[in-house]
Amino acid sequence: MSGTAIMGITDEMSMQRLRMIEQLRGTHRIVDERVLEAMSAVPRHLFVPEAIKSQAYKDNALPISSGQTISQPFIVARMTELLELKGQEKVLEIGAGSGYQTAILASLARKVFAIERLDTLAHEAERRLASLGFRNVDLKAGDGTNGWDAYMPYDAILVAAGGPEIPAPLVKQLKIGGRLVIPVGDDRKSQMLTRVTRTESGNKVKNFGPCAFVPLIGEHGWEANG
Ligand code: SAH
Repeated sequence: MSGTAIMGITDEMSMQRLRMIEQLRGTHRIVDERVLEAMSAVPRHLFVPEAIKSQAYKDNALPISSGQTISQPFIVARMTELLELKGQEKVLEIGAGSGYQTAILASLARKVFAIERLDTLAHEAERRLASLGFRNVDLKAGDGTNGWDAYMPYDAILVAAGGPEIPAPLVKQLKIGGRLVIPVGDDRKSQMLTRVTRTESGNKVKNFGPCAFVPLIGEHGWEANG
């Protein structure tokens, strides 16, 4: 492929990315400029399978490998905005999948610890993030519903899969004043986007509307074969 042809693809992707940002700002009312900035810098098309690269900037969830999905850009923006990151935080992410949400968090916080249940996805995400130059991410394969106690307490925790309840270990690993954003619902397919803020006197819980994530599978989530 000639240099100009490569340039052409890159330009087309940048333009689509800009349109995605306009949609996040206009239609979805995302107001945190740092979140919009991070999403305009991270090349989402490098996180989806080659065959569906051209759809990377549509406002949809898309299939990645192992039957999982990369979340819809709007939901990535919304969940990240709800964490209220300013730049110095230590963040825990559960359900790293393609690593796209991880990259957004790593652009906005000091350090990200990420857990992905499926080995193949975890290794792919780790490689992808390293090749894009993210140095402030530690990613491991495992059950994230138990959190990652070696590095607790966290300023913010994001769970990118839907569970039946708020996993108790995650709340325990939050700092006072820390935020946990997680989709919670009684069936495996639909949830309510929920934010828990840990305070001196207990937990403040607030709902932010319906959403649909792949199931959170693990000790404090759903059973693997349900
Ligand atoms: N944020 C991801 C979305 C991936 S979908 C992205 O941007 O691509 C949710 C992911 O959660 C899946 O990859 C699934 O394997 C993972 N998952 C489900 N249960 C988990 C658990 N208990 N611990 C860690 N990851 C889990």
